[in-house]
Amino acid sequence: MSEHLTSEELELWAQGLLPATRTMHLTDCSLCHDEAQRERHLFLALGQLPQFAPSAGFADRVMRQVRLPTRSGGFAP
Ligand SMILES: [Zn+2]
Repeated sequence: MSEHLTSEELELWAQGLLPATRTMHLTDCSLCHDEAQRERHLFLALGQLPQFAPSAGFADRVMRQVRLPTRSGGFAP
């Protein structure tokens, strides 16, 4: 198994910028997979805040749409 992703790499992944070779680690490692999900939620939440004032619950709706396939189903960022 490859090395765990760094927090920097998790940030890149949340932005869709992580190279596929490193992204593949997320399919093998539930630890990094969980961290990556958190990072993506954070990234999305932050991205929503400044630009436009969303109605209440908007961020929640966005986050509910952020569903990654189960590990057995493969990983598609
Ligand atoms: Zn890992």
